[in-house]
Amino acid sequence: MTDHIPSEVDAEQRRIVAELGQMGFTLPGSVVTRTVTCGKPACRCADDPDQRHGPYIQWSRTVKGRTVNKMLSVEQLETYQPWIDNGRRLRDLAHQLETLSLEAMRTAEGWKR
Ligand SMILES: [Zn+2]
Repeated sequence: MTDHIPSEVDAEQRRIVAELGQMGFTLPGSVVTRTVTCGKPACRCADDPDQRHGPYIQWSRTVKGRTVNKMLSVEQLETYQPWIDNGRRLRDLAHQLETLSLEAMRTAEGWKR
């Protein structure tokens, strides 16, 4: 069956798997960084955007269908941002590999869809 898989599809599969093999730690979720105003009219944050409080770094992920948030320090973000980036890449590659595999299966089996 696998000899029916076009060589370019096979090459693409190897490329994805090779990249997966190079991947380090991966984290789920994403990070949002924001600065805020506190609402006190006399505070420096009230009319100067550069004086807003923060930055507050919030890492959000889904656990059993619920969003779980965790505040990170700037140092923690420096450490874990690459892991979070890897997580996004992992999900992207997994999706690519599945799509490619479906395509290979359809081709091998002569299915229209
Ligand atoms: Zn303020």
